[in-house]
Amino acid sequence: MTETTTLRAFAPSANVSFLKESATIAVSARARALKAQGRKVIDLGAGEPDFDTPEFIKRAAERAIDAGATKYTATEGIMPLREVIAARASARWHGDRITASEVVVSNGSKQSLFNACFTLFGEGDEVLIPTPSWTSYYEMVALSKAKPVSVIGDPQNGLKVTAAFLDAASTPRTAGVMLNSPCNPTGAVYSESELREILELADERDWWVLSDEIYRRISYGGTAASVLDLSSRRDRLIVIDGVAKAYAMTGWRIGWTIAPRAVSAAMGALQSHTTSNAAAPSQHAALEALTNVGEAEKAISVMVAEFHARRDAIVNEMAAAPRLEFVYPEGAFYLYANVATPKGGDGTAFAAALLEQHEVAIVPGAAFFTPDWVRLSYAAPREQVITGVQRLVQLYQSFGG
Ligand code: GLU
Repeated sequence: MTETTTLRAFAPSANVSFLKESATIAVSARARALKAQGRKVIDLGAGEPDFDTPEFIKRAAERAIDAGATKYTATEGIMPLREVIAARASARWHGDRITASEVVVSNGSKQSLFNACFTLFGEGDEVLIPTPSWTSYYEMVALSKAKPVSVIGDPQNGLKVTAAFLDAASTPRTAGVMLNSPCNPTGAVYSESELREILELADERDWWVLSDEIYRRISYGGTAASVLDLSSRRDRLIVIDGVAKAYAMTGWRIGWTIAPRAVSAAMGALQSHTTSNAAAPSQHAALEALTNVGEAEKAISVMVAEFHARRDAIVNEMAAAPRLEFVYPEGAFYLYANVATPKGGDGTAFAAALLEQHEVAIVPGAAFFTPDWVRLSYAAPREQVITGVQRLVQLYQSFGG
């Protein structure tokens, strides 16, 4: 007698069936694939600094490995790293000293954001997301079984939202709001008064405030404010940060949250069942980045000055197409432009045409719930950025824009 087995076809579980691959990552993968075929693609898709990690940080990681930092660490991270993060946060906060027990180090600010959403939100909750926002916020909220609520920003004000916009989109089920200044994908920076107004509303409504401050060190009109500088309370505040962008350490995967102790404990428990600690050598590298302030500040100012020069060059190039609407980039390293035309279609069609015909990879704004727009990252060599923007302008003009 022969036994027959029936193979059941794979179908993703309801946990993930709604997910599509991250568009920001997919664009870079496509650019890499085209480059592998010999095409000379300029990749302005990924939000990843083109600078190498500073030498003093790399050497610290090597020393840590030699000294045996190759084992598990505490799930929440090595104590000296948590302590320095807490001390730096305390310096911004007017209230009681922030302690290491309120810091959880993870495998990048992306994991910190996810863990915060998963810990705080659930079925029946609504979370306000100023839109456009980074593509993964919406999915992280949805993975937490809560409902992401897009709140479209004001095109007259850098696509930023105000407290009034958030208020209008809120319901009794609103449980929290995501903030991100400087903003990915627009490069807009919220002023202190804009942020304060939003924090006051959140305070009044008892919303959780998740503030993603990964781009805070990269701003061109002075330091961008942290919610820690402005909030009157911290018991509903989660600050998410990391070393990836300002220290050119994307691949090291180190991010963290600063959150009230009970929230941090719950996030630590979640992490203890999923990924455990972030890579030990990477934690030592991040510790060096945060404690060797002299070297770190030198490196950051060189990188930010270069981003600033590229920003100025881009804005200059955009002047060739006066009808091409864009958010004036004040921070991060993104240019966000409304490229929709009757002839060329929306941002998705535009990005496809720019890649296939002009070999420049950018991210369609559909990834950020604003389909007429596109995001261009200027974290790439200056001449490539300028060429990329020139081709974008030419394509827009060829569509009669
Ligand atoms: N956050 C960066 C971006 O928006 C890196 C890619 C990703 O993790 O989404 O391009």
